[in-house]
Amino acid sequence: MSKKVIAGLVCCVFALGIATTASAHTPEGEIFFAVQFPDNYIPQIDGDISEWDVVPETPYRIRNDRLVAPDPSILTAPRGSQDPSDLNMHHVVGWNESQNKLYFMSEVFDNIHNVDREDVARFWDDDALEIEVNASHVGVDEQRIADQPAVNISYKWSVPPIEGQYQYLEPIGNYTWFQDGTDYINFGWSFEGEMFGESTYFYELAIIPVLSLSRDEATSLEGSEFLDLEEGTIIHFTPNVGDIDEPGGEDNYQSFWGLSTDAPCCKSSTDLAMAEMDPLLIEAIGDASTAVEEVSWGRLKAGLGK
Ligand SMILES: [Zn+2]
Repeated sequence: MSKKVIAGLVCCVFALGIATTASAHTPEGEIFFAVQFPDNYIPQIDGDISEWDVVPETPYRIRNDRLVAPDPSILTAPRGSQDPSDLNMHHVVGWNESQNKLYFMSEVFDNIHNVDREDVARFWDDDALEIEVNASHVGVDEQRIADQPAVNISYKWSVPPIEGQYQYLEPIGNYTWFQDGTDYINFGWSFEGEMFGESTYFYELAIIPVLSLSRDEATSLEGSEFLDLEEGTIIHFTPNVGDIDEPGGEDNYQSFWGLSTDAPCCKSSTDLAMAEMDPLLIEAIGDASTAVEEVSWGRLKAGLGK
């Protein structure tokens, strides 16, 4: 099916969504798409983003031209105004029905990757990736209510780790079953260039989307609810990148970039739809595996010829 058909399908699902919820989303009138991975092509969460090469550019890849700096306490800057020689961002989201997982890939070039916080808890003193997910698709004013189950989960990362610390989950980060390395959260990273200088960091994250995370630790797993992903499902998300180029100190943010214009921190209001299987992706996966087979065959022939 063509992309027009995909757009049409999601458009109608989306229209139904508007009719039944009053929650606002930003940017207004826009919807982003999670590419659907087939069961035989699930990305390995290891910081090697090469499996994502098969994902078509449109409508999946989120680059600087889509990103805005919405936080008046740091910097407000319009969409697309980011200088790519200072910070260059690229995000893709995927999903798989059988695994019932969302997959995030982020590639962030930074002229100075700065990680030197003295207090390991203060990830916001360093360069960080903060992926916000509100699977229950409610308004931002309903996402951070202290005594209610958590409905927006912040998956925040600052690498390389300092004293082993790199994972910052909010608003609840102390459940053993809800940590990196579990079924619910799996994170991987790598980098090219200078670890603490000009470099590109690669991030991968897989999650089971949380509808509501119980505040009662003793029964937190049984008491929590998870979203069953299907084609056309719409959730809220934003991939946020904080840029800190100055070494040391506090509150040295140069900028903070994301998609949700009304949610500078710890909430999300950007619509993300689970796309149907994209024939361009399937074709690209086929080409990629053919290329691998041809290389193997070439090696085999070379071996036989000796
Ligand atoms: Zn929305």
